[in-house]
Amino acid sequence: MSAAPASVTDEILAIFQRRGSGAYFGESVSMTEHALQAAYFAQIAAAPPELIVAALLHDIGHLVEDVPSDIADWTVDAHHEVIGSHWLAQRFRPEVSEPVRLHVPAKRYLLATDAKYFAKLSPASVITLKLQGGPMAAHEVAKFETERFYKEAVRVRHWDDQGKVTGLKTPVLTDYRTLIEQFTI
Ligand code: FE
Repeated sequence: MSAAPASVTDEILAIFQRRGSGAYFGESVSMTEHALQAAYFAQIAAAPPELIVAALLHDIGHLVEDVPSDIADWTVDAHHEVIGSHWLAQRFRPEVSEPVRLHVPAKRYLLATDAKYFAKLSPASVITLKLQGGPMAAHEVAKFETERFYKEAVRVRHWDDQGKVTGLKTPVLTDYRTLIEQFTI
């Protein structure tokens, strides 16, 4: 029997070590690179620290749950944002877990409210969109805007879309140790 991880940060580092080198569905970066790039773009945007942590961990749902690694095999949506935010809510304040929960709806929200958004999606993201339900209807847009963290979720979504750059140099996971620990519960 293995001992429990010493801290949430250790737990996260172990998860990335175990699963993070896998390809980010249909993209030319790994899961770890994608996470680091999303956090990097959040930092460039001078985002508040809790949102940098949310960007870093927005796809943790893909790493804690087994899902097909080839998006062509996705016959149902794995709802990684629900799995991830549930995992995060047990360890972090809502400022971190809530934008993660809403980052996939945020894609559908942006498609309904920003005419230029579709052009920013990668081919893989266009494929998953069909499983995720397509653009929001007007009543869904109105409901989404009642979410306390919807604006933060939209920001995370943009960094998520940006974080697919082959070979981009970023900080490494351990550089975020102090930041992560700031928002654990
Ligand atoms: Fe992502």
